[in-house]
Amino acid sequence: MGQAAVVIGAGITGTLVAHTLAQQGWRVVVLEAEHVGAGSSSRTAAGIRQQFSTPETVLGMRYSVDVYRNFPERVGGAEVPIVQNGYLFLLGTAEEKEAAQARVRLQHRCGLVEAELLEGRALTDRFPWVEGHAVLAATWCPSDGFLHPATVYNEAALAAQRLGVELIQRARVIGVERSGARIDAVVSTRGRHPADLVIDATNAWSPRLARVLGGVELPIAALKRCLWFAERAGSLSEAELLAMPLTVAPSGAYMRPENGNSLLMGWSRPIEAEPEFSYDDQDRVPPEYFHKTGTDSIAYETWAALAEVVPAVGEFAGITATTAGYYGTTPDHNPYLGYDPQVPNLIRLAGFSGHGAMFGPFTALVAGQLAAAGRDVPTVPALGHDVPVATFQLGRDPVVPESQVI
Ligand SMILES: Cc1cc2nc3c(=O)[nH]c(=O)nc-3n(C[C@H](O)[C@H](O)[C@H](O)COP(=O)(O)OP(=O)(O)OC[C@H]3O[C@@H](n4cnc5c(N)ncnc54)[C@H](O)[C@@H]3O)c2cc1C
Repeated sequence: MGQAAVVIGAGITGTLVAHTLAQQGWRVVVLEAEHVGAGSSSRTAAGIRQQFSTPETVLGMRYSVDVYRNFPERVGGAEVPIVQNGYLFLLGTAEEKEAAQARVRLQHRCGLVEAELLEGRALTDRFPWVEGHAVLAATWCPSDGFLHPATVYNEAALAAQRLGVELIQRARVIGVERSGARIDAVVSTRGRHPADLVIDATNAWSPRLARVLGGVELPIAALKRCLWFAERAGSLSEAELLAMPLTVAPSGAYMRPENGNSLLMGWSRPIEAEPEFSYDDQDRVPPEYFHKTGTDSIAYETWAALAEVVPAVGEFAGITATTAGYYGTTPDHNPYLGYDPQVPNLIRLAGFSGHGAMFGPFTALVAGQLAAAGRDVPTVPALGHDVPVATFQLGRDPVVPESQVI
């Protein structure tokens, strides 16, 4: 019998990590306060891009794309959960273009050879719905896209269970038993769970869980984020909408197809953190964000910002729904993937800053390497590279923030 690992949280992170640890021979129990997918994982835009600005994240997300493309063989289920429509970052100024050019050069050095800068006719011939006068250039990566998140966490949970993982839902972690600094057992509302290793996969809840586990209270802010759905009408055909990449306007507003008749839109705006949010608060939409509040709501501002660069979207019939959830955001927008400095057998995987769905497979890879080593590791092997992971360790100095939060 392998050693016992207790994973706390059953979103994309917890389910994929449980699967990886079970493959490595750990005896795994997953404790989930509500049900599988109850947190941000079911409220996400689920974009996945490799167009990042640090080598570790470009390589890490290349690894994630590879796993998601081969999900039935690598994890389970029949469905490939990634839709590779690409990611199109539209750029409005010469400074943005210059920074984007430098990012594309770095991405090429990391093997993301399909990323490219497009301008002029090369952009509007490829994407005729882009308003050429409103945009200076764009970066484009056809292998980026978005995920079906429910497929990821449901199939990962089932695959983990097939490997013997015990998944306990309605099991809120409320305490621990310890010897010295180490945790011996995790206590949930469903009982006592002996643990050689404990994994915090609660993301936006992580600072609160740290108080229960005796870990460091990491600077992870729970920030409310909304998504809106607009009904297709006018000149953009169903086929054109279905083929649309995840498109980011220079303002930061973004969109992607939800299906052939519905466009998902989002825009991360400055907002107060809610450190003590409740489970139900996840679905509470602040009035200024709600589409039914009126045309001066942020919902309509987002729609207008997108219509400026893609006029056909301005012809849509209207906004039909608003949904909400929380980002667990860190000061530098990089997640924490490492051992807690105060609890030697606790791994923290949290603070994904709006990137946890795409990070999922890479997070599971890092967690497996950490679990095997019993301590933080300098690199993890992915796609023939030794990917440096110090950027993600808990004691890091904040690094240069990622330029694009989406
Ligand atoms: C509007 C929006 C848009 C987003 N867009 C993107 C995007 O485009 N791309 C992307 O990659 N990411 C995106 N994200 C972020 C992404 O959804 C999250 O980073 C990701 O889902 C985090 O997954 P997780 O498994 O780490 O956490 P979660 O899915 O939040 O799961 C944490 C789980 O922990 C459980 N839990 C909490 N406390 C306890 C406890 N005490 N005991 C037991 N269980 C507990 C919760 O019930 C929950 O199920 C978006 C998020 C939002 C809200």
